[in-house]
Amino acid sequence: MLLLRKLTLREIHLPLREPFRTAGGTQTLRRILLVEAEDEDGHIGWGECVAQETPSYAPETVETAWHAITAWLAPRVLHRPIEGPESLFALFERDVRGHPMAKAAVEMAAWELEARRRNVSLARMLGGTQPRVPVGRVVGFQPDPDALVALVRRHHAEGYRRIKLKIRPGADAAFVRAAREALGPDADLSADANGAYTLDDRDALRALDDLGLSMIEQPLGWDDLVRHAALQQVLRTPICLDESITSLERVDDMIALGSGRVVNLKPGRVGGLAAAVAIHDRCRAHGIPVWCGGMLESGIGRAHNVALASLPGFTLPGDLSPSRRYWEQDIVTPEWTMDADGYVTVPFDRPGMGVEVDRDRVENLTVRRTVL
Ligand code: MG
Repeated sequence: MLLLRKLTLREIHLPLREPFRTAGGTQTLRRILLVEAEDEDGHIGWGECVAQETPSYAPETVETAWHAITAWLAPRVLHRPIEGPESLFALFERDVRGHPMAKAAVEMAAWELEARRRNVSLARMLGGTQPRVPVGRVVGFQPDPDALVALVRRHHAEGYRRIKLKIRPGADAAFVRAAREALGPDADLSADANGAYTLDDRDALRALDDLGLSMIEQPLGWDDLVRHAALQQVLRTPICLDESITSLERVDDMIALGSGRVVNLKPGRVGGLAAAVAIHDRCRAHGIPVWCGGMLESGIGRAHNVALASLPGFTLPGDLSPSRRYWEQDIVTPEWTMDADGYVTVPFDRPGMGVEVDRDRVENLTVRRTVL
């Protein structure tokens, strides 16, 4: 039985190691909403909300998540006995539609708290079995194929197990071909379109079929399944769905329609770890490989992702880059690292999420806080 007595929300501004360019402009820091849960015995658990500043990836933002947690979610879990972290998802779903990232932030804090309380690793509690997980690297848009080749060569040499190229109409086949020629036929290369194409672009996407990509991620609309099914029928390359996978039911729909053959699983996008584990189990039963995507998390969100990715169905490299890839200095110790073979070690031997929060650093980075 879980009895939460306090939820502390913080917004931190975490400086990025190098500026992050998106369609919306250039970011030099990441606004992150952190949730710290405390139970009646003083056990602590941390969760991180993956919502961004703007609704460019998903409808939620830092502001909407802050509001959803304070107004609707916290009152449903504070000071009332809860069976355990696995029951939070249904509790939230009953009364609050949408807002999966806000729900996940609270739910994941409860999972971490429960793991600390039981003195076991979060990975163990979720059913993880893999001692280490392969790591992939995302490469953003480059001005020309030569610039891209220089980057993919470097990251391949650093040991990353997969290189994922961002693509969009007009910046696709020529770039992917250059990367393929540079790395050779055996390197794991994939592409992520973040919904930049329409069905009318099917010829441009079919032009990628001969380049040996392990998958094309989310070529079409962020909430689409039907058009992806039509596209998959004319593409040999497996389609991987990311933005479209918002629940277990959407996975069932994907399977029924044939909208994709791989799933990028992000706990924040599906409402938390319980839903993510359920999706993992369903995909595994259907022989669909899953891997863990990234949302520019701090070391807290990364910890939850690593624990999840230790489950046996995570057979493909995850976007689990080490802390130094993004941050001047992370907010956890030890920071997340990757070995020379391109793997991150799952901290099965440490309680909870396996890293400790650097409270002084979090305090220094906090720009607002509320205690519920
Ligand atoms: Mg993606």
